[in-house]
Amino acid sequence: MTQVFNFSAGPAVLPKAVLQQAAAEMLDWHGSGMSVMEMSHRGPEFIAIYEQAETDLRELLAVPVNYRILFMQGGGLGQNAIVPLNLLGRAAQPATIDFVHTGSWSGKSVKEAKRYANVNVAASAEANGFTAVPPQETWRLTPGAAYLHVCTNETIDGVEFDFAPTVQGDVPLVADMSSHILSRSVDVAKYGVIFAGAQKNIGPAGLTLAIVRDDLLDSALPICPGVFNWRAVADADSMLNTPPTYAIYIAGLVFAHLKRLGGVAAIERTNIEKARLLYTALDADDFYRNRVAPEARSRMNVPFYLRDESLNDLFLAGAKARGLLQLKGHKSVGGMRASIYNAMPIEGVQALVDYLNEFAGR
Ligand code: PMP
Repeated sequence: MTQVFNFSAGPAVLPKAVLQQAAAEMLDWHGSGMSVMEMSHRGPEFIAIYEQAETDLRELLAVPVNYRILFMQGGGLGQNAIVPLNLLGRAAQPATIDFVHTGSWSGKSVKEAKRYANVNVAASAEANGFTAVPPQETWRLTPGAAYLHVCTNETIDGVEFDFAPTVQGDVPLVADMSSHILSRSVDVAKYGVIFAGAQKNIGPAGLTLAIVRDDLLDSALPICPGVFNWRAVADADSMLNTPPTYAIYIAGLVFAHLKRLGGVAAIERTNIEKARLLYTALDADDFYRNRVAPEARSRMNVPFYLRDESLNDLFLAGAKARGLLQLKGHKSVGGMRASIYNAMPIEGVQALVDYLNEFAGR
């Protein structure tokens, strides 16, 4: 097999060691005679897999004891839809939800929430083309808001928070961390709810994580569907309905792999180095362009444009010929995007940097 480096934004590259282990265990998991895909989610084999995954994730993110980790389905957009349904019961009606609009994904959250509540966009980076996180001092927060929602890494725009927002009073902070969870240390205690689709930095599509502080489990609106009610899911240990068992298994292998690498602090150091390498190359001459303010540049998703966009197809074809795959930018913004998640080795970033230099030289 030829060596390739996969820069997809998600579903995305997974650690080779994890895929090898999954392949080895595909037909017979630990002598059970069954593939994980064939196991009952209520059997002792799968329960062991699930419990280990949860324990390892709790350790990796240092999730405090007063938080539940929910293994759900529905993706990032599913959580976007159910966060209001699960939290608006705690607010006096008509409720207001505060948002910070930093790019495409927080924009979608705003739109979704308008179905259920008044929405206050407390700050927006739209006017500058989503190239920065508005400074916290400029946010116009609503006293007594039902919650404040942020997307701490905008996958399309390549904008990442380099700070944890602060909230007023007991307003819960909700964060969509789909595209950078486990890539950097976070103080979970600063958040009321963290959610993330798994298909970027965790494992296969189909699994969605929600980390919810205990006191926020009981604030659902009566119309919240039962299977999407966090309290009901928590009480059933994420087995209210059949969970995405194989995706949970692979996620568990990824968690164990991250622990072997030294945990989140160790992977964060590598991620800082990978991002530095790539942004330095993009900034080196004006052949390439990334407009995001330095302090807001995402370590995970690096969108960039060629100065001469008529060369886009040539650039992508040359990249593909070198095994540098899935660099085409999101259709809504065009250009290129290199996603360099935890599982992207530094050699992959170096190979991309070499190609960037070579292409610009030609
Ligand atoms: N939020 C963010 C930050 C994302 O990057 C994505 C997917 N690209 C989503 C939400 C939507 O996730 P899903 O496709 O799993 O619904």
